[in-house]
Amino acid sequence: MNYLPIFLDLRDRHCLVVGGSETAARKAELLLRAGAHVDVAALALHEGFARLPHPDHLQRVADTFTPGLLEGKDLVIVVEEDASRAKVVADAARARNIPVNVADKPALCSFILPSIIDRSPIMVAVSSGGESPVLARMLRARLETLIPAAYGRLSALASRYKDRVRAAIKPQQRRAFWEKVFLSPVAEMVFSGRDVEAESQLDAMIREGAEHDIRRGEVYLVGAGPGNPDLLTFRALRLMQQADVVVHDRLVSQPILDMCRRDAERIYVGKERDDHAVPQEEINLLLVRLAKEGKRVLRLKGGDPFIFGRGGEEIETLAEHSVPFQVVPGITAAAGVASYAGIPLTHRDYAQSVAFVTGHLKENTFNMNWEGIARKDQTIVIYMGLKGLPLLCEALIKHGLTADTPAAIVQHGTLPTQRVITGDLTTLPALAEQAGLKAPTLIIVGNVVKLREKLGWYQPELHSEQAHRTPLEAPDHLR
Ligand code: SAH
Repeated sequence: MNYLPIFLDLRDRHCLVVGGSETAARKAELLLRAGAHVDVAALALHEGFARLPHPDHLQRVADTFTPGLLEGKDLVIVVEEDASRAKVVADAARARNIPVNVADKPALCSFILPSIIDRSPIMVAVSSGGESPVLARMLRARLETLIPAAYGRLSALASRYKDRVRAAIKPQQRRAFWEKVFLSPVAEMVFSGRDVEAESQLDAMIREGAEHDIRRGEVYLVGAGPGNPDLLTFRALRLMQQADVVVHDRLVSQPILDMCRRDAERIYVGKERDDHAVPQEEINLLLVRLAKEGKRVLRLKGGDPFIFGRGGEEIETLAEHSVPFQVVPGITAAAGVASYAGIPLTHRDYAQSVAFVTGHLKENTFNMNWEGIARKDQTIVIYMGLKGLPLLCEALIKHGLTADTPAAIVQHGTLPTQRVITGDLTTLPALAEQAGLKAPTLIIVGNVVKLREKLGWYQPELHSEQAHRTPLEAPDHLR
């Protein structure tokens, strides 16, 4: 071990920062956040200093460093390119046994500043001992994704309940009790902002003592995005890794399913080829039953659960049965596909609004307010429209769009098998047919489609043999 990690209490301590650059401002900020008073020696201060917290704890005391500035200081940070000038400060500080850090000059430091993950009061510090700050920073980024933003609030809850738990739970059972609390839905309740519920659950656990397992089931309705695992949210990933059972359908891609907890039970409720999908009411009741068995149930949906995802229906049933649930938004196909196809859905010159519509045919017609939809200053995104494409294009022309309105159809948006076919309302149906596209596909209609020529950046089909494979297959009613 080259360095001993410690956490310094700097509240109302006095620190010196030598240097007025942007980097110096960031160092001063750390000290201020830790409650210190900061003197700065610099000819001028970067504007970043003006935005720091607790400005009354910060003052520029001199143009340059003089040893007298070390009087009464507990810590010194130097941001100075010139090595010999930096060394003068470092030596003077060391001579007085004041800890000193010199940015980017590890040899002059008596301590180093780690990369930190701040979930106050929980703090994680990562350091490579000054040898590879980039590596430490990358590790920090990975840890950031793993630790929920509200982790500190969980710690605060524990601190509020400390005395009550001490009074109710025997010392030898306390540790097990807290472990149970942190693994219970209480933690997820805090992370999702349901503090009142978390407290009443914790009260119940204290009443029952640590002996009883009163684990309550819960349903996480999670949007998995359009298929590319990179587009999952941190929250989705976290819940995927703690669920006991995963209920999914065909739109959720295999790489995403692979990221769920390995030993979680998986229940497929989509449609096998030529078979019928599990009816919606049965799925709703399945979720209720699993949660009532005490399980943490992950209901994993493609895209966003509230956009053509029947998420509303599923949680309505949960609410009727008093099953706790939370909803995690996902990147909806329109947003994901548009980005990866280089088609901005709105644009000041071409589209002032965007409409998401379903192209699902019912008895060969669409039940839609075409007047509100077919407008030349609006982008139209059509989900589930592959089968109905010829009829859709016809209807849009009939209701006022010109035949040469640009239109695109995107297969497997965001995935390595993405393909984009562009044309206009008259040519697109035949082009799509010729291309032999596989579901899921998304249709985008409007002048913004023209921008793809300039803005298309993701073109896996140019170098991919896989463009004709199907990692995702949507059930028929979604085509
Ligand atoms: N809740 C989902 C939509 C479910 S409806 C969401 O918010 O995205 C299913 C339809 O979504 C498909 O028929 C298709 O039109 C569209 N879709 C989903 N993923 C897609 C993808 N990767 N590429 C193209 N279209 C997609």
